[in-house]
Amino acid sequence: MSKHAILSASGAHRWMNCTPSARLELEFDDNSGEAAAEGTAAHALSEHKLRRALKMRSKKPVSPYDSDEMDTFTDGYVEFVLEVIEQAKQSCNDPLVLIEQRLDFSKYVPDGFGTGDCLIISDGTLHIIDFKYGQGVLVSAEENPQMKLYALGALELFDGIYDIDTVSMTIYQPRRENISTSTVSKESLYQWAEEVLKPKAELAFVGDGNYRPGEWCQFCRAAVKCRARAEAKMKLATFEFALPPLLSDEEIAEILSSIGDLTSWANEIMAYATDAVVNHGKQQWPDLK
Ligand code: SF4
Repeated sequence: MSKHAILSASGAHRWMNCTPSARLELEFDDNSGEAAAEGTAAHALSEHKLRRALKMRSKKPVSPYDSDEMDTFTDGYVEFVLEVIEQAKQSCNDPLVLIEQRLDFSKYVPDGFGTGDCLIISDGTLHIIDFKYGQGVLVSAEENPQMKLYALGALELFDGIYDIDTVSMTIYQPRRENISTSTVSKESLYQWAEEVLKPKAELAFVGDGNYRPGEWCQFCRAAVKCRARAEAKMKLATFEFALPPLLSDEEIAEILSSIGDLTSWANEIMAYATDAVVNHGKQQWPDLK
């Protein structure tokens, strides 16, 4: 089995909005590099600490990213999880706690699987907690398809065994001082899975549907070379010049509002073109000095 699902949970926001992106991304290497490696190290440490706190056997992982900061943030995560377990104990004597649980949501997403950092299952409520060590983008649990996919995978395992009616999904993102929780009914989750998720996943799996640029392009591996995105950016750049011959203040304000977006896209293209010459032996680009 491949290590990565084509339709990953973390990419769900993207492939649900731009269904052909998942197949297009396969043409590019995963360059998530350093930040991803640091995140993996933080996860391993938090997993270890949580196991220890729950009196399970675990060997402390060692990584080049170990730091006081990572220590503090992973301690905070463990404290938070222990609090949720205490709360769960108020309605259920013996909640089930699972750490780094493989979750299969292939009933809705072809070949879809992922890993839940921590699940706490008690009668009534299923809690899913996701530890995010990144700090670039603030992540909300509200309407978060990644969390919903994990929840569906967890329900596959435990709905029927436990009497679950509510799902509580939490993102714990300490470097942004962000703890975001979304609580939904199990039924609404199943309804979303059938009516929204499943049709999108079917399109995405075969690479069908329309390219749709948006904020979800940010981490798309195809972003720099994507034609649909380039066309959207170029559209921003071509301003409809209407009569009279001089721009009005409103028109200048509109152009100004697109400059940041255009500049960052232009910088990405420049970085790509330069990298191709310097590191990959491309002979030249016309107009690139
Ligand atoms: S860059 Fe944006 S529009 Fe292009 S494939 Fe990726 S998500 Fe879709």
